Parts: sequence; C-alpha cells; structure tokens
Amino acid sequence: MDLFLENNDYHYELEKLCRLFYPMQRIRVFEKGAAPADPDPMCITAHFRDGTASVTFQTPQGTSVSESSCEDASDAERTLAVLLWRFLQKESGFTPQWGILTGIRPVKLLRRLAERFGEAEAAGRLLEDYLVSPQKVALARETLHNESAVLSKEKENGCSVYVGIPFCPTRCAYCSFVSTTVEKTMRLIPAYLDCLCREIAAAGAVAKDLGLSVQSVYIGGGTPTTLSASQLSRLLAAIRCAFDLSACLEYTVEAGRPDTVTREKLQVLHENGVTRVSINPQTMHDDVLEAIGRRHTTAQTLAAFALAREAGFQNINMDLIAGLPRDTYEGFCDSVRQVLALSPESVTVHTLALKRASRIYQEHEEKAARLSGAVATDMLRFADQTLLAEGFLPYYLYRQSRILGGLENVGFAKPGNENFYNTVIMDESQTILACGAGAGTKVVAPDGSGRLKRVFNFKYPYEYIHRHEEVLARKEQVRELYAAFCR
Ligand code: SF4
Repeated sequence: MDLFLENNDYHYELEKLCRLFYPMQRIRVFEKGAAPADPDPMCITAHFRDGTASVTFQTPQGTSVSESSCEDASDAERTLAVLLWRFLQKESGFTPQWGILTGIRPVKLLRRLAERFGEAEAAGRLLEDYLVSPQKVALARETLHNESAVLSKEKENGCSVYVGIPFCPTRCAYCSFVSTTVEKTMRLIPAYLDCLCREIAAAGAVAKDLGLSVQSVYIGGGTPTTLSASQLSRLLAAIRCAFDLSACLEYTVEAGRPDTVTREKLQVLHENGVTRVSINPQTMHDDVLEAIGRRHTTAQTLAAFALAREAGFQNINMDLIAGLPRDTYEGFCDSVRQVLALSPESVTVHTLALKRASRIYQEHEEKAARLSGAVATDMLRFADQTLLAEGFLPYYLYRQSRILGGLENVGFAKPGNENFYNTVIMDESQTILACGAGAGTKVVAPDGSGRLKRVFNFKYPYEYIHRHEEVLARKEQVRELYAAFCR
C-alpha cells in the first residue's frame, strides 16, 4: 500500500492506522509529488487544506474521494483518520474495535478527556469521534474506575523502581524483546549482575538526594528467575541497600517461565520481601507451548504455582495469550478455566502481537492474521466474561502495534490485588527509576502537569557492561531532569 501525504505531516498516525487493517503488508509513505517506480495497486492520498480534509483512494477497482470539512485545524489529523478508517473498513471488511485509536494507552486518553469534559461526554467522544465500539468504551470506563482507585495511592514525591534482567532460557516465537538466551550468554550474567548492582546503587543515591519515596519495585525481563538463587539473593540485597523500602506498597518479581522456578529461588524472593510473583503459562496446552518455543510444560506451570504458594506468596499473577499459533477457541477457554482453578490473585490476558523481529511474524500472512484476529476477539470476550464472573476486575489495559485484531492486553485482579507498578506505568504519572540493559527511566514532573522526560540505557547486555560508565553518567542526567522539573 502506498500512502501519500499532501499538506500534512500525520505520517506516524495514518501509517499506523493502515497497519491496523493490513498488519502484514508493506506500507510505504511518500511526500506529495513522489513517483515510486513500482507503485502499489492500492494508493491513498491524504490531503488537508483550507479547513477541508480529503482522502483519495485508488485501487484496481477505481478511484474514490471522501471529504470532510474541518474548521479547527487542530482536528485535521483525527478527521483524516476517520475518512481513512471508513474506507479501509469497507475495503478490508474488518472493523477495528478501538476505532481510529492506534496508541497504546486508550484509557489514558479517556482519563484526559474525562478531566476536561466529564466522563460521560468523554465516553461519547470515544464512541462518535474516535469510532470506538460500545464494548471497548465500556471496558475502558471500567478499567479507568479500577485504575483510579490504585492511582489514588500515588504520593507526590513517590517513585517506582524497575530492574531488568534481559536473559531467558530460550526465545519464545512471538518475542521481539531484547532478551538474550542463557544458552548463548550465560557467561555474561556475572558481569551483568556486577554492573546492575552498581547502577542500582547509583539510582538509590539519586532517589535519596531528590527525596523520592519508593512505592513499588518491579523486577522484570526477560526472565529474572533465570538467575540462580544466590544471584537473586545478591540482587535483592543490592536493592534493599540502595533504597529505603519502608513506604513500598508492593515488590514484584516476574518468575515468568515456569521452567526457571525452583523452591530455593522462591524462598529467596519471599525472605527478601518480594510480595508478588508472576508465573506465566501463556497457555495450558503443551502442543501450543511447543509451537511457541517455550520449552516448558503445563505440569511445570502447575508445579511452579504450587511451589510459590508453599513459599508463602499470597499474590500471584498468571499471564495468558489469546491467538497463539495452534491454539483454538476451545483450547484457550480451557486454559482460562485451568488457570482460574488455581485461584491466582490476578490474571493478565494478552493478545498475540505479530512483532516484526519475532519468528511468528515471518510465519504469518495477511489472511491468517485476519482469521487469528477474529478468533482472538472471541477468546477475549470469553476471558472478559469469565473473569468478571469470578470476581476479577480490569485495572490496566494497553495495546501494542501489530496486535491481532487491533485488540488489547488487560490486567484483571481480585479487588485489593491490583499491581501499582502496572498502573503508574500505563498512566505515566510517576517517575520510574529503571536499571538494567534496555531499561528506560521515566522522569515525571511531580506537579501533575504530565511533563515527562525519558533516559534510556543501552539495549544489549554486552554494550551495557562495556559502556557502563556512560550508564552511570545517565543516572546523573536523571537527577538533573527531576531537579529541573521541581524548580
Ligand atoms: S519469556 Fe518473555 S522476554 Fe523471554 S523470550 Fe519469552 S516473551 Fe521474550
């Protein structure tokens, strides 16, 4: 598909909208006047001038033009997106349930609109101006209410701490994350851990100097439980030494891959104050696990969950993914039921995203992606209804690019077990001090203005280790950015 932009620079948004309809297709964007040597059979021109938005569609079947007046130039992007959406919906036969929204945080948009216009009008705007389906508007409103209760715990000088362990036992077929398999890079872990402990100490000094109070700690990845019990013990001690955790509401460690979970590691976590672990089956069917390259079994998931309970964890999350290869609607429903039979405190229901760097992306084609999207829609509906019936409530929600069916990922929790870190990261309302390769610190102005700056670490463990002095210098940048927000 070729997309031409005339008199507007909405490249990013309009391209993402095209990708929502055609996730596997090549989409090229050109400025006005460009003449590609190999024009695509489907060509779209988005044009804005003198209060009129127009979109011209050329396909092998003919040419059509849609226009809409738009007196407010600040609304030109949305108006063009609506015209484009209507055409692509007709052309593809697919109706994205989140309408023209392509961003990852629809609930944040609803919150901002609700602050300006009140919640009822904000919901009406999502329906009419952004073409979001009534079901998704209802889900966004429900999530907004539950998320607000969690966000109300935020302190003005609060912050959260993220620590990344970018190692996994094997690479999942759907993963595009910068994770490095242990098989290849086991030798990097000791040096990585040394550097990580130094960075944690530097981040702790920044928090202390700025008077930040740590409200949550999240150790994610990758798979943190790829580390041995003694390495985990060292990491947790470094965190305890660096930060005052007396006001910490929760402490999470992703024990994502059941094949990395042992009794000893769980004991180390529990004894060191970790309050929540995530054990992620993704599916409760071994044939599907095999298809996605997870190299663990459902029996291992059950065993890991039992070990976590025995170790004393009262707050366990489990992740599932809708739309996995080889999975079926019935299989997914069965996975939901099996997970619920274990009575976890929270369940996060993801939808498969066809990330470009993943193996799965190479194996999918447009038609298969469309069909998987339709099945994933049914799967999410089942999960949503079943979890609500079991007393779980949605409390955070996000979307990813190339997610099947343009759907979403939703965190459900039994009341009182919502994860604070997940909500602040989605609302971008709190400073997150992030440590580790690929981690990004978010510096958020404490005055509620929404001002935000990001400071990124190097992506790959090798660079992170070998350029560690630069990593530490960037922690000083964090200090300066936050101090500047306070002036
Ligand atoms: S466990 Fe997560 S980070 Fe690791 S390979 Fe699988 S999807 Fe990627």
